[in-house]
Amino acid sequence: MKPPRFEYLAPASLAEALAVLAEHGDAAKVLAGGQSLVPLLNFRLVRPAYLVDLNDIPGLAYIRQDNGRVVIGALTRQRALETSSMVRERVPLLADAMPQIGHVQIRNRGTIGGSLAHADPAAELPAVVAALDGELVVRGAGGERVLRAEEFFVAYLTTALDPTELLVEVRLPVVPPRTGTAFLEVSRRHGDFALVGVAASLTLDDAGICTRCAIALTAVGPAPVVAREAARRLVGVRPTIDVLEDVGRLAAADLRPDGDLHASSQYRRHVAGVLTRRALARALERAR
Ligand SMILES: Cc1cc2nc3c(=O)[nH]c(=O)nc-3n(C[C@H](O)[C@H](O)[C@H](O)COP(=O)(O)OP(=O)(O)OC[C@H]3O[C@@H](n4cnc5c(N)ncnc54)[C@H](O)[C@@H]3O)c2cc1C
Repeated sequence: MKPPRFEYLAPASLAEALAVLAEHGDAAKVLAGGQSLVPLLNFRLVRPAYLVDLNDIPGLAYIRQDNGRVVIGALTRQRALETSSMVRERVPLLADAMPQIGHVQIRNRGTIGGSLAHADPAAELPAVVAALDGELVVRGAGGERVLRAEEFFVAYLTTALDPTELLVEVRLPVVPPRTGTAFLEVSRRHGDFALVGVAASLTLDDAGICTRCAIALTAVGPAPVVAREAARRLVGVRPTIDVLEDVGRLAAADLRPDGDLHASSQYRRHVAGVLTRRALARALERAR
C-alpha cells in the first residue's frame, strides 16, 4: 500500500512547526518516529494534506534530571529511554515498560511523544505516565499547557491535544526512597500490544508499612485506568500476600474492558486482577 498524496514539510525549529500547524490545523499531521503514523497512511486511514516532520527540529530529544523529576523531550526515541542509566535509576517503572513495546527496530524509531500522542488504548507508556502522575507539556502558537494523564488521555486514540499543538516534554517524578515499581503485561506474543498491562508503584516506611501506592492499567478501557480505590487499600498497612490479593480483586472489580477476537472482557478482567497482584508483589520485593 502507498500513502495518499501529501505535501511534506520539514520545519527547522519548534516555532516554525507551530506556525505551520496554526496555519493548517486539521489538514496537517505531524510525523515523529512514524511507527504508528506510516502504517495509518499506507492503509489510508489518515489522509493529511500536509505531513509535518519533526525530525529536523533540534532540541526536542533529551533526557535530563531537573528538580526531583526526569524530563524527557517528546522526540526522544524509545530505545534511548530503554538504554538510559538515568531512566533505569530514577524512573525504573519506565525502564521496565520499554522492552515490552513492540520490537527493538520499532523502539529505535518510535518516540515517547509519538506513543503518548497516538494514545493507543493498549500502549504501555500512557499507563506509566498515569501511574507516576507525570506531567505532559503541550505547546501551541498561543503558549504552553501542562496536563496530567487524566486530562491528556481522553478516549481511544484521542487526547486533549488540539491539532495546532505539539506534545513537547514529559516530566516524571524521580522514584522516592524505599519505593519499588513494576510493569507487567500479558500479550499473545512478545512484541504484540498488551492484552492487559499493569504499572504499579509502592513506597514503604522504615517499619515496612506502605505509605504510597499507585496502580494504572492498560488495554482495559479507552484510556489508561488508574485504580485509585485498590491502591488506597494498601496504604497504611503492611503488604502481605492476602492484602495484595485483595488489591488485585479490587482493581479488577470496576473494570469493564471490551472483548475482542483475542481476549474476552471477562478474561481481561481476570488477568488484570492477577497481574495487579503480581506487579505489586514484584514492586514490594524491589522496595525492600
Ligand atoms: C509492529 C509494531 C508493534 C508495536 N507494538 C507496540 C506495543 O507493543 N506497544 C506500544 O505502545 N506501541 C507499539 N507500537 C507503536 C510504537 O510504539 C510507536 O512508536 C508509537 O505508537 C508512535 O510513536 P512514533 O514516534 O512512531 O509516532 P508517529 O507514528 O510518528 O506518530 C503517531 C501519532 O502521534 C502524533 N504525534 C507524534 N509526535 C507528536 C508530538 N510530539 N506532538 C503531537 N502529536 C504527535 C502523530 O501525528 C501521529 O498521529 C508498535 C508499532 C509497530 C509498527
